[in-house]
Formats: sequence, structure tokens, C-alpha cells
Amino acid sequence: MTDNLKQPAGSKPPEPAVTPPPAQLETSFAKKPRLAATKSRRRDIPKGLWTKCPECAEMIFDKELEDNLKVCPHCQFHFPLCAKKRIQSLANAGTFEEIDADMTSVDTLEFTGTDSYAAKLEKHKSRTGLKDAVITGFCQMGSHQVALAVMDFEFLGGSMGSVVGEKITRLIEAATEQRLPVIIISSSGGARMYEGMFSLMQMAKTSAAIAYHGRGKLAYISVLTHPTTAGVMASYASLGDLIISEPKAMIGFAGPRVIKDTTQSELPKGFQTAEFLLERGLLDAITPRRQMRERLTEYLDYLCVAAPSRTASK
Ligand SMILES: [Zn+2]
Repeated sequence: MTDNLKQPAGSKPPEPAVTPPPAQLETSFAKKPRLAATKSRRRDIPKGLWTKCPECAEMIFDKELEDNLKVCPHCQFHFPLCAKKRIQSLANAGTFEEIDADMTSVDTLEFTGTDSYAAKLEKHKSRTGLKDAVITGFCQMGSHQVALAVMDFEFLGGSMGSVVGEKITRLIEAATEQRLPVIIISSSGGARMYEGMFSLMQMAKTSAAIAYHGRGKLAYISVLTHPTTAGVMASYASLGDLIISEPKAMIGFAGPRVIKDTTQSELPKGFQTAEFLLERGLLDAITPRRQMRERLTEYLDYLCVAAPSRTASK
């Protein structure tokens, strides 16, 4: 059999169908850079340039995420947004004037857990660049002058202590005096336990200020973001003439486990989500972050007569 495959003397060897002859092979490999010389692409990507979406697991370029107001461009998951960026996204450019910017908490109870309250405050101040969990002030939104408070969850879980309560109360009182609408963007784990009863008193104080504001027939819009819970939800966050939420925000008072244990019953699906509460009438609307400014301006157009800007009226 092997004899049959032998080339007859003098005939050319058959050309290979795919494999190039050895001389050609050498030149094509020689053109390619050696493996050790190629730079690893991975090494060129600096850390913190990409974020993985916890909802759809897509990798998002950080710059794209920032430009999109921290909303996943693939599945519209709303990442937490800091108070300063939130104000930028809502107020007319350059119109926000902060009030009570230097108000800080005192450690009246000298509370100590894993760390002292004073140490925790310092840590969060340096980490966030904030003095406490809320920024308050006045700004122009569309053609309206508004009193705006924005909470920041990064500062001790957006908890409401004396400073948050006092800043919000002062803002509402000033708005009542100047006959301006109030908008509060909430994001909170509830009352601040390090301040004990002083925290709980803020619920009554802020609610009373809202009641006086309402008596003056002035509008208050409450915007809930993920998560808005406990003492904040049980006071000013749920007292809006309009209550709006971002999509899929967790909204509630006590945690689901506590409620389940207390009521001894199974909780319905989607319990404590914005969508569940919209269906049952607690919310008036769910508005995506990128449309929030436009929607709020529209609501203000319905609720208020456009007032001259604060600077123009001076
Ligand atoms: Zn996503």
C-alpha cells in the first residue's frame, strides 16, 4: 500500500492546500511581535474606571455613569447620587444658595458603640466633605424660586439627627415666610440613634413646620429616593402635597423581617417598593432621575404662580 503512495521519480511534490511552505511560515511569524514584547491591555486600565451594575451585571464606564446621573444605561438601575450632584441636576445653573452650611452635631449623649459618635462624625465629614446628612438652600428651578433640601445617604446612612431636623425646619420656616414652595429629596435610614430622643423630636418639629407651611396654602413636594425609611418616612417624607419616587426605591417604616414577625403573616411580593406603593396610592408618581427636573418644574407650574427670582426681588 505504501508503495502506491510513493512519488514517481522526477514528478513535483503536490502543493499543500493550507499550510504555507517553511520559508513563508518563518516570515509571517517574524512579522509578529514576540509575546513578551506586547503590552497587556489590562495593565493599562486604571482602577475605578468601570463599575459593575448590581442589577444587570453589565460593566459601565464610570464617565458614562456620571454623565447619565448615575443611572445604568442598560437597565436604568438608579445608583445612589450624592447631594451635591443631585442639586446640580435639579437647580438652574449657578442659582443655588446654601443656608446653615456650618451647622454640626454635638455629642450630647457621649454615645459610644463600636466607635464614639464624635469619631464617626469626623470620619463621615472627611469622607463626604459634608457637615451632616442634608444640604438646604434656595434655588431657581425653571421659572420658580424654591426652598430645596437634599439628603445624602453617604453621611451616616442619611440618618436624621438634630442637625438634619433643624436645617430642614429652618428651611421650611423661611419658605413659609417668603411664601415659597418646598422640595425635599429624601434618602434615609431613619432617626439617628446616636442622638437618642433628640433625633425622635425632629419628626414632630419638621412635621409641625410643614403643617404651618401648608396652612399658608404653599406647595410641598416630597421626592423619595432609595432608601427612604423609618423616622424620615414617618415624618416629612410622607407629608408632601405630591409624593414622588425614583423607580424601584425601597420605601417603608420598619424592615420587612420586623413586620413579618409582628404580623405573623407572609408579606406580598414587591412589598416596600415604590411600584407597590404607587399601585396602592401612597405615591403620586414614579419619575426616573433624568426626567426629575422637568417633572418637578411642571408640577411647580401647576401648583404655584411663578414668582420673581429671589435675587431679582431684592
Ligand atoms: Zn444595569
